[in-house]
Amino acid sequence: MARKIQAIRGMNDILPDQSSVWLYLEKTVADVVKSYGYQQIRFPIVESTDLFKRGVGETTDIVEKEMYTFEDRNGESLTLRPEGTASCVRAADQAGLLFNQVQRLWYTGPMFRYERPQKGRYRQFHQIGVEAFGISSADIDAELIILSARLWQKLGLLEHVELQLNTIGLASEREAFKSALVEYLTEFKDQLDEDSQRRLTTNPLRILDSKDESTQSVLQGAPNLEDFIGEESQAHFERLQAILKANDIPYVINHRLVRGLDYYGKTVFEWVTTHLGAQATVCAGGRYDGLVEQLGGKATPGVGFAMGIERLILLLETLDLVPAAAKFSTDVFIVSMGDDAELTSFVLAEKLRETESGYVVLRHCGGGNFKNQMKKADRSEARLTLIIGQDEVDQGVCQVKDMLTGEQETCVFDDVVSYINSKL
Ligand code: ATP
Ligand code: MG
Repeated sequence: MARKIQAIRGMNDILPDQSSVWLYLEKTVADVVKSYGYQQIRFPIVESTDLFKRGVGETTDIVEKEMYTFEDRNGESLTLRPEGTASCVRAADQAGLLFNQVQRLWYTGPMFRYERPQKGRYRQFHQIGVEAFGISSADIDAELIILSARLWQKLGLLEHVELQLNTIGLASEREAFKSALVEYLTEFKDQLDEDSQRRLTTNPLRILDSKDESTQSVLQGAPNLEDFIGEESQAHFERLQAILKANDIPYVINHRLVRGLDYYGKTVFEWVTTHLGAQATVCAGGRYDGLVEQLGGKATPGVGFAMGIERLILLLETLDLVPAAAKFSTDVFIVSMGDDAELTSFVLAEKLRETESGYVVLRHCGGGNFKNQMKKADRSEARLTLIIGQDEVDQGVCQVKDMLTGEQETCVFDDVVSYINSKL
């Protein structure tokens, strides 16, 4: 036998018993974002490598070590998208949707990062991203956070996630803070972990994120980002908090929250949970007023977030929050014996699918004896089984078996739909 080819490590199949949860989550998100006026945008999975180098930042983890980059047959450097914001900006700007306009956009799809696969961390994973362009005031930051809270509420997750909030100020404020931070940390360089030592020259803000104990204890005495935040950023941050308070959205301020991507400024936030171990962040975002310009467009403010679908699904499953109605189930299974009965069963099946309830109807295909077909009906876990043989066709009726009680009744063809409506 030929050797079977396996999926790539860290890239998962989503099998039929899992896909209904995915559909449920995607549908819930689609409904919520629509109610806030957000429209879907779709863009390719592959982009020029430069888009992410410029958009995400040369010294970020993503660009330094996580991208799937390859040359196509023309020798052009392409990258499987590691995130959606840069592509979203590229696509919207290319279509002329950004300058001097307000756009509320969302997207969903696979992202690719070469990371060490573990629970909640994969090499192909899926995000839903929501982005708003053209508004520089804090009310749009608030709208996005309120939208995400609405989604948690719909999913039953609101009490299981915590909103962490910070402001990382304007670029000039971050530069001043970075210099002070580097000056301080350089004194203690040998007490920093290896990654942080490297980041001293590449991306010092990320050192605040370090999980290393020795680095964390050095950071105790480091200058504080909040002391470098200017009036404009502070006012923006306070307005955001006032709106969240007025909407009863609890949050904690985490002064160490900086986010791993270069494009953020002012607001940053994460929704975190205590139920998923180290992969605690289910949704993360912030403001990125410089990004559009950085990618060659005209200056346009932007703010957005992305959530990890796998982590949200893990969370829903861990907390047993997937509603029964979201799971796939068969309403009616149709058993038919003989050529005439088979033809009739097709007609009945369509009648049931056409109803307002849009029943899930499975016809047994491929013939076979009665006993065998009934076994299939059992296995389908349908609530009702319709049974049609030549006698039933001749009499214009069918048998309806309630699979829970085992009761069986005869029903005339013309009444089948209303009979089933009354049973289901
Ligand atoms: P982390 O700190 O966990 O690596 P990140 O800061 O790299 O996350 P973002 O780039 O902000 O993550 O992506 C937004 C969300 O996408 C994350 O909060 C997470 O839910 C999800 N996510 C990111 N990377 C992965 C991955 N490799 N596998 C599964 N989900 C992921
Ligand atoms: Mg990461």
